[in-house]
Amino acid sequence: MADPVARHAELCEALRKHNHTYYVLDAPTVSDAEYDTLYRELLAIEKEHPELQTPESPSQRVGAPPREGFVKVERAVRMYSLDNAYDEAELREFDRRIKEMIGEGYSYVAEPKIDGASIEVRYEGGKLVQASTRGDGRVGEDVTANVRTIKAIPLRVAETQPLTLRGEIFIRPADLETVNELRASRGEAAFANPRNAAAGSLRLLDPKQTAERPLRVAFYDLVQERYDSHGAMLEALAALGLPTHREHGRCADIDAVLAYIARFDARRETLPYETDGVVIKLDEVRLRDSVGFTSRFPRWAIAYKYAAEQAATKLLSITCDVGRTGQLTPVANLEPVQLAGTTVSRASLHNLDLIAEKDVRVGDTVIIQKAGEIIPQVLSVDVAQRPPSAEPWPAPTVCPACDQPVVRAEGESALRCVNARCRGRLTAGLWYFTRRGGMDIDGLGKSLVEQLVDVGLVEDLADIFALPTQRDALLGLERMGEKSVDRLIVTIDEARAGRPFSRLLTALGIPLVGSVAARLIAEKYGNLRTLLDAPREPMVEELAAIHGIGEKIGKSVADFVGDPDQRAMLEKMLALGVKAEEPRREKVVGGVLEGLSFCVTGSFDRKRNEIHAEIEKHGGEVHKSVKKGTTYLLAGERVGKTKIEAAEKKGARVIDEDGYGRLLAGESLDEPES
Ligand code: AMP
Ligand code: ZN
Repeated sequence: MADPVARHAELCEALRKHNHTYYVLDAPTVSDAEYDTLYRELLAIEKEHPELQTPESPSQRVGAPPREGFVKVERAVRMYSLDNAYDEAELREFDRRIKEMIGEGYSYVAEPKIDGASIEVRYEGGKLVQASTRGDGRVGEDVTANVRTIKAIPLRVAETQPLTLRGEIFIRPADLETVNELRASRGEAAFANPRNAAAGSLRLLDPKQTAERPLRVAFYDLVQERYDSHGAMLEALAALGLPTHREHGRCADIDAVLAYIARFDARRETLPYETDGVVIKLDEVRLRDSVGFTSRFPRWAIAYKYAAEQAATKLLSITCDVGRTGQLTPVANLEPVQLAGTTVSRASLHNLDLIAEKDVRVGDTVIIQKAGEIIPQVLSVDVAQRPPSAEPWPAPTVCPACDQPVVRAEGESALRCVNARCRGRLTAGLWYFTRRGGMDIDGLGKSLVEQLVDVGLVEDLADIFALPTQRDALLGLERMGEKSVDRLIVTIDEARAGRPFSRLLTALGIPLVGSVAARLIAEKYGNLRTLLDAPREPMVEELAAIHGIGEKIGKSVADFVGDPDQRAMLEKMLALGVKAEEPRREKVVGGVLEGLSFCVTGSFDRKRNEIHAEIEKHGGEVHKSVKKGTTYLLAGERVGKTKIEAAEKKGARVIDEDGYGRLLAGESLDEPES
């Protein structure tokens, strides 16, 4: 057998490389399945040779037990805030002061001001030793265990001198929904925006929970002054494999800065993170000392802040959406108004406390604000314009979907419908169950799900799998022609046969069970039948004994499986032929995609790795770039025109996710498209 020490080192290196290409460069080089195979081999070796399991091993990202609180970290070099500029005149004034102090011979670097939570990460001897929040600048909180779970952050770097890095932890706006669903499954209120989500996730007491949050990071500063210029430092960090924003621009003077800001403004919405401005820094590090600091911020840097986009409009009514867990979320229905280039008629009110706190009343003129790509939120009320008849909003006493009384749990701001048979909860649960990332049943949109529930075709999640035998009933629904019904049936059958057990577990929406926990549980039990047959008695202990699953998750799963209604529903799924097996992850021959090759580009609602794995699972081949013989370029959102033209030149056909879905369903794309 190969030398385990050498093989272990090789695996660590390969896994690190794949994390880097996936999380830092955004250009994955292997499928999830391949990654898994390497990871398992690593775990197997470490089981045999525990001495190889050092803290820097990729297997040791999640390990620390939950804590009671955070330890304070006092730092030698304080983390400063930034002074702000809101227009060109203020920027020119900033430049004038600098010129006054140092004369000629300086330049700037402009870079995105990412809207997240600041972080300091220290490496010593090439190893990640500590991470801390900003706190008051001088004293922060030790969040090392949480930060270790962020795969974009290497646990080891090829630089043995100490590195004290500063950067921003963020969550992509596109990932906010996932985070909020996880929260909803724990009965927690939704985060208002990606920034709150990032800051909240960073300070969770249980690193296992942080591991489930899709946190990203961009470093923009190195405390040790080892480079002549800020630009050179940023490039050196990137070269070390550290995540940076890779968006900085060197600017010869303040006019060039203004040009950068104008260019950046036009692209800002297309970036995978939210920004609230541009940071301008003096590029020449040696000149910074002569410019100096105030008590709160450096004088050699400034943040140019974009004005948040706001509008005033009338609040017509407040309604409540019912979530899968029964939680009621208030929504403001507005007189349509233009905001940031779109017409807005709904805005988020987040939770009931907020309505009371801001005293929002129907009939009020409200100020709404849109930050980045998320739905607008109600910021404040223009009390001066309040009509005399406007009354405080009475919180609902019954569920808007099922008319059953709602309850407010002690200490919780949310109201909850506890009716297990609530149609609103069922609709939300179905939506969660069938969406991408869950059972992935394409073609089951929101309005169709609502119809299915309304006409009684679906009374629980399992009923979805009975739909293929109800073709006539489906044809009777609104906007369901032969073609869409048949397509739906195909995708349902596909989901019945083809989704791993872990996907089913995630899609069920069991409280506390996200995709990571689901995978671990699925691997332990192998399939749904075995989980259902497992004796209930030691189940909590058995689950909690899985590395990565705690007592709470174990109990939640055992409760779910033990609940007579859920149990009956799961048995019904099995009776309807739902496979729910956790596959041994190897390549399948004879799949529907056999003989086809794909290059996947652009952004999708799910991870590109997932699509790669899916292609391979169905016998297709993945090409990292379009080459001669690539059959399809699967293009998601935001794909450059040049990329598409280049693909066509090489003879690859460009398809979108729809086309891909049809291939997966075994259709041929040469049929006339309807
Ligand atoms: P403020 O919180 O408005 O005082 O702005 C300062 C904060 O902006 C810092 O603490 C960082 O967390 C954050 N920030 C985001 N992007 C950058 C960047 N490129 N350079 C410096 N600070 C940044
Ligand atoms: Zn209800």
